[in-house]
Amino acid sequence: METKARNILPDAINFLRTIILTPSLSGEEEEVARKIARQMVSLDYDEVSIDSFGSVIGRIGNGPRKIMYDAHIDTVGIGDPEAWAHDPYCGKQEDGWVWGRGASDNKGGLVSILYGASLAKRNLPEDVTLYVVGSAMEEDCDGIAFKTIIGENNIRPDVVLLSECTDLDVYRGHRGRMEIKVITRGESCHASAPERGCNAIYKMTRIIEGIEALNDKLKDDPFLGKGTVAVTKVTGSGPSLNAVPDLCEIFMDRRLTAGETRESALQEIRDIVEATGIEADVEVLVHEAKGWTGKEVKMEKYYPTWTLPEDHASVQAGVAAAEEALGHRPAVSRWTFSTNGVYTAGLEGIPSLGFGPALEAYTHSVDDRVSEEDMLRAIMFYALYPKHYSRG
Ligand SMILES: [Zn+2]
Repeated sequence: METKARNILPDAINFLRTIILTPSLSGEEEEVARKIARQMVSLDYDEVSIDSFGSVIGRIGNGPRKIMYDAHIDTVGIGDPEAWAHDPYCGKQEDGWVWGRGASDNKGGLVSILYGASLAKRNLPEDVTLYVVGSAMEEDCDGIAFKTIIGENNIRPDVVLLSECTDLDVYRGHRGRMEIKVITRGESCHASAPERGCNAIYKMTRIIEGIEALNDKLKDDPFLGKGTVAVTKVTGSGPSLNAVPDLCEIFMDRRLTAGETRESALQEIRDIVEATGIEADVEVLVHEAKGWTGKEVKMEKYYPTWTLPEDHASVQAGVAAAEEALGHRPAVSRWTFSTNGVYTAGLEGIPSLGFGPALEAYTHSVDDRVSEEDMLRAIMFYALYPKHYSRG
C-alpha cells in the first residue's frame, strides 16, 4: 500500500496546491467545488455530483454498508495579509511542507480522502459503498451542509469519517456548543429624569452576574473537558443616547460537555432569570446561510456534544487502519474545536470519528500548513479503512 500511495503522492500534492491557489471562503466555494468534482471524475469515481447547497459528493462502489468521508471545502479568511511570511494563496511547497490558507483546515484532509478513496477503489470490499464529500460552509456553521446531504439527498451513511486535523491520531468526539441570546425590555424616557422610565440595561446586569457565576459551576468531563459559558456581546438601545434604553440584548457562547444538552443549558439561563425576578426572553440564535448555489438554509445554532465509545467497531476499525498506515498504534483522543460531527453524530446519531493530517494549532493561523509525509499516511489510512470496517 505504501508504494501505491507514494506513487500517487506527487499528483495529490499538486492538486492540493491547486485548491490552495483557489480561495474558497464560506459561500464562495463554486470554483473549488467544480475543480474537486472534475478531479473525482478523473480519478475514476463511479458517480460525481454537486448538491443543491454546493457540496461535492463522489461515490465509489454500491454495497449495503455506507462509509462517508468528509472534508469541508471552505476556509476562513486570511486576516492581515502583512502577518503572513508568504502569499496565503500561493500553495508554497518547501522542505516537505505545503503552505497556505486551508492547507491544514481542511484542504489537506480533502486531498487525503479524495486520493485515499481512489486507492481503496482497486479492491473495495463488495459490501461497501464509499461516499467522499467536500462539504460547503463548515466554517460559518458546522454541520449545515449535512442538512442537505443527509436530509435532502437521502444519503444516510453507517459511519462518517471526518478528515479535520487529528495529527494522524483517531478522534472520537468533541464538546458541543450553542449561541444563546437574552433580551430584557424596559421603558424609555428622557435620560435627564431616569426615574420616569425603566432601564433595560440595568435589568440585564443582574442576569449577567448570574451567568458569570454559572461558569464556575458547569460540569466537567475527564475526556471532553469542562462546559463553559461566556457573555460575548451586550447591546442596549433606546430612542437616543439621551434616553433610557428600553431594550437590552446579550449574546453568549456556551460550550457543552458530556451530559449537557440544549434543554439543560437553556434551563440554567432561565433559572438565573427567574432568580433575579426580572422578565426576560431566552432564545437560541438561528444561523441563516446562503450557499454559492443561491440556496438558503437555516439552522439553529445548537451544535450538540458527541462522542463515540472507544470500543465501538468503527473506532476500532480506525485504530487498525491507522496502525497499518503508520506502523504504530495511534492515540485515541478528541478535538478541541468543533466539526461537522455536530450534525452527523450530534443531531443524526450516526457513528462518526476523525482522522486527518496536520495539527489543530496550524488552523486559522498564518502558520497554516500540512506535511507531505502526513498526507501520505492519511491517504494510506483512507485507502485502508473500508477493508478494516468491512471486517468489523
Ligand atoms: Zn475545519
